[in-house]
Amino acid sequence: MAKTVIVRYGELALKSERVRRRFEQRLVGNIRLALRGLSYKIRKERGRIFVDTRSAAAVACLAKVPGVVSVSHATRVEATIGAIRRAAVKVARRALRGGGSFAVRASRVGEHPFSSHEINEVLGSAILEAVPESGVDLSNPDRTIFVEVRGGDAYVFTEKVLGVGGLPVGTQGNVVALLSGGIDSPVAAYLMMKRGCLIVPIFFDNRPYADERARRRAISVFKELAKFYPGLELRVVPFGRILRAFVEKAPRGLTCVLCKRAMLRVAERVAGRVNARALVTGESLGQVASQTLVNLNVIDEVSKLPVLRPLIGMDKVEIERAARAIGTFELSIKPAVGCSAVPRYPTTQAKKEEVLDAESKLGIQALVGEELEEELIRAGG
Ligand code: ATP
Ligand code: MG
Repeated sequence: MAKTVIVRYGELALKSERVRRRFEQRLVGNIRLALRGLSYKIRKERGRIFVDTRSAAAVACLAKVPGVVSVSHATRVEATIGAIRRAAVKVARRALRGGGSFAVRASRVGEHPFSSHEINEVLGSAILEAVPESGVDLSNPDRTIFVEVRGGDAYVFTEKVLGVGGLPVGTQGNVVALLSGGIDSPVAAYLMMKRGCLIVPIFFDNRPYADERARRRAISVFKELAKFYPGLELRVVPFGRILRAFVEKAPRGLTCVLCKRAMLRVAERVAGRVNARALVTGESLGQVASQTLVNLNVIDEVSKLPVLRPLIGMDKVEIERAARAIGTFELSIKPAVGCSAVPRYPTTQAKKEEVLDAESKLGIQALVGEELEEELIRAGG
């Protein structure tokens, strides 16, 4: 008996043969990245990836790989009734310790001298005999003993751990994600990763209008996101000097709109270097003053690349729920001063002419045109 993790993937199955092969290769590569440091062997069969490993940490790592729909830690045996029965009894003894009801659910792919129905029957009575305090309940069992027979191998397991689903990171190209470390932007970045994009996160360090805690918070959020794809690299860009110009030399109501425009300009430049085809932010319509349609129009206007806002139609409550689910919420609510430059009355209806006028007086091109000294942080380091 060997230990294997069964990895199931979804949307890939819908693609053409050629696209699917590319996606599968990428998924396998991403799985290898997620499992680095563990000992394992990968086998690929039509529609399934099998990871032979004894590592207990593997299931949790694999469930976080975008593209993976579910994973099961299984016992693998030869596809004979005798071997399947022995494995199932062993699994059931552990799962039904102390009693409880169970059902056997077998499925089969390939040619075998037995049917799924026979497996169900043979295993049902063998388990009842081995664990007399248990009982069969086909409609609402406490535990399900799953059997998957595929060709010469059979897999016995009791759980399907849900994965994140979506598409393998890297299959949909690169995007630059503006990551503040607040509640919203990590969720936005995650959604794009789940949709198959390799994200290039940027954090703008607003010091002296922010504190060191905001920087540390962004880094910790970034590391949490990297659990979905350990190859991520965070760029930390000093932004305080630019922000100071807006605070000191432009109408105060425009600070946030000017700031967002400048962030997009810098992000677009980074995008050019990393071959990214879009920018991503965590804005949600009407959430704060700068996030009105009028302002978003004026903000977007600086960028040739599309600005994707996966949260645009989500409520705060929904965003928070998502942040909890991906593990960033608790990190994002840590106390920090993210930006003390927000004016008391930020405009909700920025006028393009006023914004352009303010920018030209500031010499915006020179201000944001200068190469900023960015710091690169790798998830592993
Ligand atoms: P979040 O919860 O993500 O901080 P928010 O609702 O507080 O967002 P804003 O502060 O208006 O909204 O920022 C809007 C978006 O601009 C953020 O979601 C993020 O994508 C980007 N952004 C804001 N500040 C920063 C920063 N310091 N570094 C990187 N991106 C930022
Ligand atoms: Mg914020």
